[in-house]
Amino acid sequence: MGIVAVWLTPALEPKQIFPMAPVVVTRPGLEPADFLFRPVVIEASNTELMDTLQISGVIQSSLYNALNESGVGVLPPSARHQLAWSLADIFEYKVDMSRDLRQGDKFHLLIERLQKPNGAIIVSKVLGARLALSNASNPLEAIHFDTPGSSTGQYYDASGMSLRAAFLRAPVAFRRISSIFGARKHPIFGEWRNHTGTDYAAPMGTPVRAIGDGVVIFAGTKGGYGNMIDIRHRNGMVSRYGHMRNFATGMRPGTRVAMGSTIGYVGMTGWATGPHLHFEIRVGGVAHDPKLALQSRSGEPIPANERVLFQKMRNQTLASLNQSRLASVTE
Ligand SMILES: [Zn+2]
Repeated sequence: MGIVAVWLTPALEPKQIFPMAPVVVTRPGLEPADFLFRPVVIEASNTELMDTLQISGVIQSSLYNALNESGVGVLPPSARHQLAWSLADIFEYKVDMSRDLRQGDKFHLLIERLQKPNGAIIVSKVLGARLALSNASNPLEAIHFDTPGSSTGQYYDASGMSLRAAFLRAPVAFRRISSIFGARKHPIFGEWRNHTGTDYAAPMGTPVRAIGDGVVIFAGTKGGYGNMIDIRHRNGMVSRYGHMRNFATGMRPGTRVAMGSTIGYVGMTGWATGPHLHFEIRVGGVAHDPKLALQSRSGEPIPANERVLFQKMRNQTLASLNQSRLASVTE
């Protein structure tokens, strides 16, 4: 898989932008929202240089490796690391990146690249993303859109529903799972029969996060689970976290926890042969497949008065992503 990088500022060649020659781009008579793509405005007084480009890839061994290869020549290694995490963050309500990715899965990204005055190149924003999982019928799409009251903007699907939902898809942040830097296959842990949960291999002490807002109903030791916490959520569903080394401060029955907050740390208490988190979703006292139980309901829709602007932005972003798909097919 090679690099797909398309420059969206027809008037400027990449070499005219880099190195840091001050350039002013003006489009008389156009409102920012009328630009064909997100405006690339480079002020003469500002030596920060910004452009927009696309990166596509096919996952062979890991998301990190795929991004690392696709980004060669257009992003420094640190920015490629960051991009793998950003992609996981964007879809963290939809996909468990540490477990659901398969060989052959494809991604397309539209990113904003920034060169700082000191020469450092970073990804300042992911404008759009498409993730085509080989075991899903439809690709997942994310469109970045700034809404009033949100400093960083949010991600929406093509129909304008927020990707944020009531539950995270995984109790351990993707960036905490070191295996993205190595083999994708997780070690199999020798555990008790009729294993009903999902195991996350992670280094000892890795923070464990509550997958949703809720109330702690159990925090203590329980047989093979070792140090275990149960959290009851608003819909009656219970999330269970086992084998922890220790709990975060204040974890006891009745404690309220917020989605994403740290409740404890990965360990190997109870019946575990190596450090990992045992995670379960329970409904009515019975373990359910997290993949189905956490299948997120749609988030909030885009505000009505923002809809027209969003649709314009969406069409531009999707057009760019489609372009990169075509380009990668013809390679
Ligand atoms: Zn387990």
